[in-house]
Amino acid sequence: MILIDGKKAAAELRAELKEEVAELKSKHNKVPGLTVILIGDLAPSQIYVRNKEKSANEVGLKSEVIKYPDSVEEKTVLEKIQELNSDKTVSGILVQLPLPKHIDKQKVIEAIDPSKDVDGFHPMNVGNLSSGYESSIPCTPLGCYLLIKKIEPNLSGKKAVVVGRSNLNGKPMTQLLLKENCTVTITHSKTKDLKAECLEADIIVAAVGIPELVRGDWVKKDAIVIDVGINKTDNGIVGDVHFDEVSKNAKALTPVPGGVGPMTIACLLKNTIDCFKRSQI
Ligand code: NAD
Repeated sequence: MILIDGKKAAAELRAELKEEVAELKSKHNKVPGLTVILIGDLAPSQIYVRNKEKSANEVGLKSEVIKYPDSVEEKTVLEKIQELNSDKTVSGILVQLPLPKHIDKQKVIEAIDPSKDVDGFHPMNVGNLSSGYESSIPCTPLGCYLLIKKIEPNLSGKKAVVVGRSNLNGKPMTQLLLKENCTVTITHSKTKDLKAECLEADIIVAAVGIPELVRGDWVKKDAIVIDVGINKTDNGIVGDVHFDEVSKNAKALTPVPGGVGPMTIACLLKNTIDCFKRSQI
């Protein structure tokens, strides 16, 4: 079985991006800039944002974090986004989720200029992705896609099953696999026989949030299995896939941690650079 090493793949991607940033700098005399808005003091969000900033600096991006207290008014955040939309030194804007309850997430997402939407959550980017046009692609599914392509460059005609239909993961993942000419089944909490669906799959992407949901006897021999889940349990962090059981059947499998997670931030940097490049045309 191939253990898909997300840390290594992310380090390779960051190295490529670092070279690209250096080339862009010599060509345009400026570097792409990423601005992150962080509201409140939720510990996981603080950690994510710190890691994003560190990785952005590592590849040579200009990076800035704007922090607001939990009590910040929605209007203040929306005004800041407008200011960043018109700031030419800012290539990408990310508002760290989740937001405090009094702030409307959809309003915030839609306030970001789609050409600077490095999370790929703006309805314009969602539409572009599903229409097959160029767009920012949500970072986690993009990371999954790049990992799958490393194992199997030609996905045409493969049967893929995506478990979970969130806007963040399942739906964009489905679009990426469709674009590669996979036959895709998207499954969710109301799917009647998830095991039977998974048993059909050459590729399984699990993004559910249920510890070890996908079992060994759900997986066809030689399937590629990508585990997006990050679940805290009494035994530590586990994914949505039962690693020990599935590793006996699968051709390739991502571990948790060390699989999809590290690719997510690397893809955020890629999206920032891609937004910059599109803005220079
Ligand atoms: P979500 O809660 O928004 O969506 C979960 C999806 O799973 C829903 O579409 C739901 O219909 C489906 N589902 C629920 N129960 C099911 C069942 N029994 N069978 C089949 N489908 C079922 O979750 P999300 O935001 O997509 O996150 C999923 C997981 O991925 C979580 O563990 C989250 O922590 C993790 N995650 C990881 C990364 C990363 O960088 N690795 C990034 C984002 C999310």
